[in-house]
Amino acid sequence: MAALDQGQLAQLRATLEARLAALSGLNDVAESPPAGGRDLPVSEVETSPADKATVRLLNDLALEAAGHNAAQMQVMRKALAKFEDGSYGLCEECGNDIGYSRLQARPEARLCIACQTRFEKR
Ligand SMILES: [Zn+2]
Repeated sequence: MAALDQGQLAQLRATLEARLAALSGLNDVAESPPAGGRDLPVSEVETSPADKATVRLLNDLALEAAGHNAAQMQVMRKALAKFEDGSYGLCEECGNDIGYSRLQARPEARLCIACQTRFEKR
């Protein structure tokens, strides 16, 4: 497997940056509820205990999603940092090329397919 060329690197970097931007947009929404409590459809359906449980569940899910987004953003930032030191596209475990087709599907991948498979079996 040949190393990535400049065009491929640029494309993968752009994909990562776009995903990171999309995630940070989602986080902004989750972290800053609108002032005054308007525009909060979820809180307006508190008419029965069952509805309250649903509201709690939805809020829990929103918090969980925000945490997941933060973790994803961390992964993307780490991947982008590797463009700076030239280690992007190399497996962190064995140092081989991760491969362009795999990176196209998962630009934030840190391991080659062989190491990833071994890792998931552990
Ligand atoms: Zn590997």
